[in-house]
Formats: sequence, structure tokens, C-alpha cells
Amino acid sequence: MIERIHLAKPRGFCAGVVMAISAVEKAAVLQETPLTVYHSIVHNHTVVERLEQQHNVHFVEDLEALEQLPAGGDTVVFSAHGVSPRVRSRAAELGLYTIDATCPLVTKVHTEAKKYAREGFHILLIGDSAQHQEVIGTYGEAPDVTTVVGVLGKQGAGLADPYTVQVPDPSKIVVLTQTTLSVDDTQKTVQILKNRFPQMVIPPSDDLCYATKNRQDAVKSISPQVDGFLVLTSTHSSNGMRLLELAHTLTGRAYRLETVQDLDALEPELLGLRSVGITSAASTPDDLVWEVVNYFKAKNPALELVEEGEWENIEFREAKRVAPAARV
Ligand code: SF4
Repeated sequence: MIERIHLAKPRGFCAGVVMAISAVEKAAVLQETPLTVYHSIVHNHTVVERLEQQHNVHFVEDLEALEQLPAGGDTVVFSAHGVSPRVRSRAAELGLYTIDATCPLVTKVHTEAKKYAREGFHILLIGDSAQHQEVIGTYGEAPDVTTVVGVLGKQGAGLADPYTVQVPDPSKIVVLTQTTLSVDDTQKTVQILKNRFPQMVIPPSDDLCYATKNRQDAVKSISPQVDGFLVLTSTHSSNGMRLLELAHTLTGRAYRLETVQDLDALEPELLGLRSVGITSAASTPDDLVWEVVNYFKAKNPALELVEEGEWENIEFREAKRVAPAARV
């Protein structure tokens, strides 16, 4: 029986997710027709379902769907992961109002990509999947001079290997990264590349975001006190899946769940765990975490709950609706 839960702090929503969801909710209220969002606004199934069911939001995943918006659908929201310039310009051509809910920390990487491309650099963009929406967006800023390199341990279509990746001119390359990778694996990958290309430029501030780092730090700090972890995340949340991997590396027992409903199936796995750490992705609503805590409380009224650490105190500016004329 689980006797003690250590709740990671911080966990759950980051400032970028709060800003993006709020932008969608506010825009949906002002619109009678369904509001269109390009890609899942954040990578969490519950968030997406709630927006569809409670706010009449309609999600599209590609340009073809954007081009066939239902009559009256005149506004599109870009998700927190960012979009490539091609999507922006197509939205402008279609005469759509836009609300750019891209996290400012992703926009920062786009800005770096444009700057280094202008200066003649070849960009090595470290990511965990070439199909991740954030990687697609950043890559799209300078596709002719960007190579996506798999972070250590990740392979897949479109990902170059850091040990073998080739560049046109080793004296003119820069490394950028996806914002939500494993801190430790990213450092190791950058080092591999630096060893191979000593003249590679590493921008002064790294691209991993504060929320990714803080949630990984919280898991590291709890891990000596727990037998295992529960990580609330959708599988397509990069930062959430990195938390799961980290928790597994540190304790050998880490289990993913979307919601409290997944706990029944996990019961056999949890046998023998007496203390458990709980954390959640930057896109997981905290009420889902408390449903899990309450599930264990109901089974053991003497359950001890430990919650140490600090909440973040970061807010991002509200995303505004921009008329199509302002973009063309
Ligand atoms: S996880 Fe990081 S990059 Fe992604 S929305 Fe949150 S703060 Fe922004």
C-alpha cells in the first residue's frame, strides 16, 4: 500500500501553456462559430477535449484542413509549439485573423534560427523527433540550412546522428535545441558535437526552457525519497515523456498515466511501492494530479502527503488577435 506521496513542485502548467489555453478560451467566447486552432494547442488530451467540448474549438493539423475551414471560421490560433513561416503566410493569404499563442521561449529559438541563417551559418537543431510540432516550426524558419540532430538516445526518421552528422563548413555552424528536451542528454549531445566541430557556436543562453529544467530538477530532488514515480502526461508531450524517462532512470520504476482512470490497470505494477513521487507535464491540468492523490487517499486515509519546492512566478503576455491586413 502507498503510505507516502511526494508531489513534485513545480509540476504541471507552465507560463506558456497558461497563456496559450487562455488565448483560446477568450477567443472562443467572442466567436459564434467554432474557433480553429492549428495543431493541439498544448500536448495534453484532456486539455484538447475540454476545449472541444466546452468551448466549441476545432483543431486542424495541416494546411489542407486550414484551407477548408467551415464557413465563418475566420480566425486561427497557432499553438504553443509555434508554426513555420509557411503556415503563417498561408493563413495571411487565406485572409484569416490570427492569434499567435506560440510560447515566447519557442519564438526566441525561431529568432535565433533566422539570425544565424542570415549570417551564413548552418544550424544543427537538436530535437527528440523531427515530427514534433516545435521542431517542424523552427526547422521551417531556415529549412535549407538546418539539419535536425537527434538528442542522445533518440533516433528516427529525419533525425541525424550526432556522432556522424555532416555539415557543409565546420567553421560556420551553430547549435540550437528544442525547448523541452532532457537537460542531461542535451548537454551530452552538445558536447559530442563540440568535440567533432570545435568551432561550433553555442549561443550564450541555452534554448531549454525554465519549465523543462525546473520540472526535471524537482524529480531529481524527490527521487532519493521515493520507490518510484507516477508521471501524468500524454505520450506526445515531449517535456512530459522526458520526465518519465528521467524518473525511470533515477528509480527504476516510473509509470505514465493520462488520468486517474489509468490507475486500475497500473495496480499490479504499483504493488510493493510504499512511497511514490508524482509529477506532471507542463501541459497537464493539476486537477488530474489531485484526482490521483485522492484515489490513494481513499485507499489509505493515513496517507502522508509531502509537497516541497517552489512554484514558478512567471507570466507571459496575452496573445492578441491580429487582422489579416496587418500580416500581408
Ligand atoms: S514547456 Fe517551456 S517552451 Fe513549452 S510552453 Fe512551457 S515554457 Fe514554453
